[in-house]
Amino acid sequence: MSAKIRIKCPHCSEAKNVHSIDEVCPKCHKPMDIAEEGNIYIYRQGSPYGIAGGFGLFLNGQPYGYIGNKELLRIPVKFGTYNIHSAVGMSRKCQDLQVTVTPENPAVYTKVYIKAGFWTNSFVVEYVDPNLLDL
Ligand SMILES: [Zn+2]
Repeated sequence: MSAKIRIKCPHCSEAKNVHSIDEVCPKCHKPMDIAEEGNIYIYRQGSPYGIAGGFGLFLNGQPYGYIGNKELLRIPVKFGTYNIHSAVGMSRKCQDLQVTVTPENPAVYTKVYIKAGFWTNSFVVEYVDPNLLDL
């Protein structure tokens, strides 16, 4: 499974998939100058409860666009600690995951899925074994 690179343009804040971090922003056409010290991988696990559309992704409260069913994203980041959150429309309950990207641990592998609840479904973000992602 090949990961799509998801970046957030520092100029126009648009979150887009790109083929390389050296590309210019597809929206404002400025160089994005992404500092890639590490990567956060986020896989969306398929779900029988299916919300058909994308799940909204948030890194430290910043919107990073949507992730489609069974999609795998790679988000280049600087070293640091990141809170991963997911939400769609009125479904805002999420068990967030806090991850830390360091020189010793530059790649973090996570997955997001929907857990069915009695009253309401909630999102769960948790670590995943990278071997299962077949990168
Ligand atoms: Zn831009």
